[in-house]
Amino acid sequence: MSGKRVIGNWKMNGSLDANRRLLQELLPPLAALTGVEVAVCPPFPYLAQVGALLEGSGVALGAQNLHAAEKGAFTGEVGAGMLKELGCRYVLVGHSERRSLFGESDELVAEKFEAALAAGLLPVLCVGETLAQRRDGSTEAVIAAQVRAVLQRVGIAGIATGVVAYEPVWAIGTGETASPEQAQAVHRQIRTLLGEADRELAAATSLLYGGSVKADNAAALFAQPDIDGGLIGGASLEAASFLAICQAAAR
Ligand code: PEP
Repeated sequence: MSGKRVIGNWKMNGSLDANRRLLQELLPPLAALTGVEVAVCPPFPYLAQVGALLEGSGVALGAQNLHAAEKGAFTGEVGAGMLKELGCRYVLVGHSERRSLFGESDELVAEKFEAALAAGLLPVLCVGETLAQRRDGSTEAVIAAQVRAVLQRVGIAGIATGVVAYEPVWAIGTGETASPEQAQAVHRQIRTLLGEADRELAAATSLLYGGSVKADNAAALFAQPDIDGGLIGGASLEAASFLAICQAAAR
């Protein structure tokens, strides 16, 4: 892809007041940035509020999760069509917290990815290895299995329509970032794997890095040839940090 992308994942944080204050600080300086597509993913109850605040700003709205079914007796769940109706452009799929805390399997994640595509959303497939898996040398196999499950379900064209985010679990919310070289190596692996299906579409697929990206390490990560932007957790809750990361991506 041409420009970079930066997506903020607010996780289960925010309030009507805090969201308004954050965006009031963030949106005016972001409006001056070119060459980067920015999105924020608030919790479900704030999608309508945040969507209204983002109107005309150029910053896109995303959700953090969805159910694979369109509708039905799934108490507490949210369907892709509902997210689309509320103005979402993106939806995160298979975030490591969903996988580890809520038991989401590679197969379920693939179903969700497909449901998001079918509704016209851009799913952001999150993949990543745990520290134990990195230590025992299975990073490549874990990432390959996570990507292949989705590839088998939606094909390379489906993956290329969405986004893939490499988020090593050991780097999420820990303050420990993958070095630019470590991140680049996995991004290259993902692109090579996608390239086995179609080289051109693989080259065009947006691959984001996530895991303790901060203002002071963003530029080095984004300078890597296969890193097309970032998925930002903690630092997306602070206007100055998130802005600095977006600026690093715009350079
Ligand atoms: C995330 O949750 O997607 C994430 C990358 O979190 P953090 O930036 O806080 O590590």
